[in-house]
Formats: sequence, C-alpha cells, structure tokens
Amino acid sequence: MADKDNRYSTSAVKKMSQCHVSVGKKTSLAKPKFDRWRDLNSAIIDWINNDAIEETSVKVAERNNFQSYDPIQKKILSDLFSRFRTIYPKRQYTFNHQYISKEIEKEINGEIYGITTHFAYEFEDEGHYELVRLKTAHDPSPDLIDLAILTKLKEDNEEFYTAALELDDLMDIDLIDNPDEVIDEYFEIIKSYVYDRQKRTPGSHCDFCDQASRCGQFPLINENKINRNVREVKVSKTNLVKLDKCERRTAWNVQYGLPREDYIEFESESTATKFHKYSQQMLVDNENYYEDENIEDFKKLTVNEDGITQEELFNKYKYLVAKLTDYENLVIKEAEYILGCTFIVEGKGERKGEVVDQKVATIFNGKSDLAGRVGDTPIIIELKTRPEMNEDAIEAELYALGASSIMKQEDEIIVLHIYVSEHNAEVKERRFGPSEIESAKAKFESIANKPASWIPYDALSPKYTVGDWCQTCEFKNTCSEYR
Ligand code: SF4
Ligand code: SF4
Repeated sequence: MADKDNRYSTSAVKKMSQCHVSVGKKTSLAKPKFDRWRDLNSAIIDWINNDAIEETSVKVAERNNFQSYDPIQKKILSDLFSRFRTIYPKRQYTFNHQYISKEIEKEINGEIYGITTHFAYEFEDEGHYELVRLKTAHDPSPDLIDLAILTKLKEDNEEFYTAALELDDLMDIDLIDNPDEVIDEYFEIIKSYVYDRQKRTPGSHCDFCDQASRCGQFPLINENKINRNVREVKVSKTNLVKLDKCERRTAWNVQYGLPREDYIEFESESTATKFHKYSQQMLVDNENYYEDENIEDFKKLTVNEDGITQEELFNKYKYLVAKLTDYENLVIKEAEYILGCTFIVEGKGERKGEVVDQKVATIFNGKSDLAGRVGDTPIIIELKTRPEMNEDAIEAELYALGASSIMKQEDEIIVLHIYVSEHNAEVKERRFGPSEIESAKAKFESIANKPASWIPYDALSPKYTVGDWCQTCEFKNTCSEYR
C-alpha cells in the first residue's frame, strides 16, 4: 500500500490536473455544501445505528446533527435526510462507515503512489457487500477515474451504488471498458505533479479552489500572511456586484451555498458568448490584428455559424478592432485572465455553537476577457455586448487591484471596457495610478467587512435589501418566505 503522503483521492488528482498548487493544506474557506454533506452523513450514521423506532431515531439524528443550523439549512438537511431514508430504507445488514475505499497503485520514480476512491457506507449481508456513495450534487455521476478503479478492483460479491439524493435515486455504478488506459492517464498527472508541485495554473477552476488566499494569484493586500484560524470567503466578480445591492443574495451564494431557484441544466451558447470566444481567439498573440486581411480571417473562425450570426459577429469584431488601434504598441497576451486580491478584517466566526470574534479573509476574484500591455503598462480589457452600467466601475477597480500586484506594476494600470454593438463600439478607459490604487484598496477593505459579519451556519444573519433587483434574484421565493 502506498505511504499516506503518496496517496491521493480521485478528487485530489482531478485538482492536480487543473493546477498543482491547488492540492494544498486544509484552509477555513466557507464550503457550506461540504459542511452540510458532513452533517447529513453523521445523521445517516446515527439513524442507522439507532435501534429505536423510526420516528425516534430520525428525531434524535436530526437533533444531534442539524440543530446549530438556521431554519433554511435545517429544512434542506431534513429533506436530503428523508430522501436518503426513502431510497435506502433501514435493513438488518452489518453496517460500516469508516475508511471504505479502493486503492490502485503504481510505481513512479522508485516510489509507490496510490489513487483512492471512497464510499460513504458499506452494508454486508451473508458475505454480500453493497458499497454506497452519498451524493447531494445535481450531477452525481462518478468521475472516469473512480469508475476505472472500481472496474479493476471489483470483487464478485460486491455491488456499487450512488445514493443520488437530488435525483431521488439509488443508481448502479457502471463499469467501463478501458480502465487501464484511464488509470495510466491519471498516474501521468501525479507524475507531472511530483515533478513540479509549485506549478500554478489559474483558470475557471480557481472558483472552486480553497488555496486562493495562499497561492499568490489573489495576493493578500492588507496583511502579510494568513493561517487556519482565519475564516475565509470567496466573492466572485458577479457576487461582488450583487453585494452592493443586497448582502443576503451574495451571502447565500458564497457563504451558505443555498440551492438557486434558477438552476439551469443546459444552456445553448449565446451570440454574446460566441463573440467573446472568437474575439479572444483572434486577438491573443496576434501582432497583426489591425490589418484588413487579418480582420477578414475572423470569418474563417465563424464559418460554421449561420449567415445572420456570422455577419453580426463580424461587424462587432470590426468595431472592436477599430477601438483597439487607438492604443499604440498594444500586445494582447492572455484571454480569460484571472485577477483578484484578498483582504483580512476583524469579523465573526463560530466555535462550539457560539458566535466568536474571528479574523475573516475575503478573496475577491474575477476573470477579465483580455490582458496584455501597452508598451510597459498593463492593460486589462473587458468586452461588453450591453450598454455601460454603474457596476462596471467596481469591476475595473477589482482588475486594477489584482493587476497591480500580479503584473508587478505600481505606476499605472489601464482598464478598458469596450461596449460593442452591431452598429458601433464605445470605450470607457480608466487609468489607475498609485492614488487610485490606494482608494480602491480602502474601498475593498471596507467591502470586506460585510462577509466578515456573516455568521457561519446562520444564513439569516446577513442583511437583506429589497429593490428592483429582487425580480431577477435566484433566491426570490426562499427569501420572501424568510423575511
Ligand atoms: S486559486 Fe487558482 S491558481 Fe491558485 S492554487 Fe487554486 S487553482 Fe491554482
Ligand atoms: S429577493 Fe431581494 S432581498 Fe431577497 S435575497 Fe434576493 S435580492 Fe435580496
């Protein structure tokens, strides 16, 4: 068996495949869904181990595990708990819930490494085993590597299931045809990780990473270091904008992870998204972007679009390029460039069910459309296919703060918003010198006081503000029920 330092869960290897630094030490970042999963799991274990009548064992399990939550989260947990009891009713099997895993091993550079896949529960009946994963996500399917390990290691007397609570289903876990290929691929990921553990690769996966306050991508601005005693909250650009209008809306997204009422399983790609994607493909590392012939190449990229969409996209691109040519020596190096920063302020936390004083770090993160330099000056470009809005100003400040740290530039940062329509393009240019950067720092430090005041486990602690924005709020029904 691999040494514990050389053993990685399938989810850790998945993280490695995105960014090596994301496999780090435990932090105190808000992970409400995981906290709720953990307490639900404890309730299920209490219930199964309690021989009292059903009603009593359910009541005791709920009291022991859900009581510190606010009424909304209690309701979510009770609902998930009841779903589990329906799809996997109590039966007289031998029950085990500790360390149920399957591990596959391989030697890398003379050392044994292992990848493990886990189950929450094992039920045994006369030498026959049922191993059950507990999933509360919308998509409960195991990853390919989990399936590959299970395919390799399945015994004849074992059955594997996923208790998919959102789907009210006990799903069979299917085996796959090419487990060796998949396993080799994942050990290659470990090999590359072992070779360079410090390789940082930011991307949209930063949204789900708990190392953001330490990895250097979102630098600490008002303190030098952070430790595990600091509670952490990550606020994306979208939620930063919402925070200005209503704290509850942002808090329910980032601190409490309440289920959104507008959950959409599949959305087709909009013309706006296509415009961003094609423009990014054209502009990054393209020194000749302003030449007519080069602009015409945009049509080749959009060849699979219908005629009307193609024309609309091309017109927008021409207007965009015309605006960019105002900047001499512009070089665009990145698309989807991740930027942000972290502020630590005094706030509130929870210890043994009591509210206590605690430092709180807020990580503000955003993804700009394009980034590069005009001469030596960093430039961040945001493409909009809608008219200018007030909220664009705070987005610009966030980018400027992030860029001033990560692009190592204190003197000046340019942030452009380019508003593109089929008929023209407008530019809003903001230049951030040292004094603008200082006032942006003060502003974000003050904003960080809001997440710092939210009490973990109490989704009703953040303030709410009713306004026009409630019409499009992803929590409007839940919110009005709890006002
Ligand atoms: S926040 Fe992003 S860049 Fe930093 S460690 Fe995580 S995934 Fe990597
Ligand atoms: S419905 Fe309105 S008040 Fe309630 S969380 Fe949403 S934005 Fe805030």
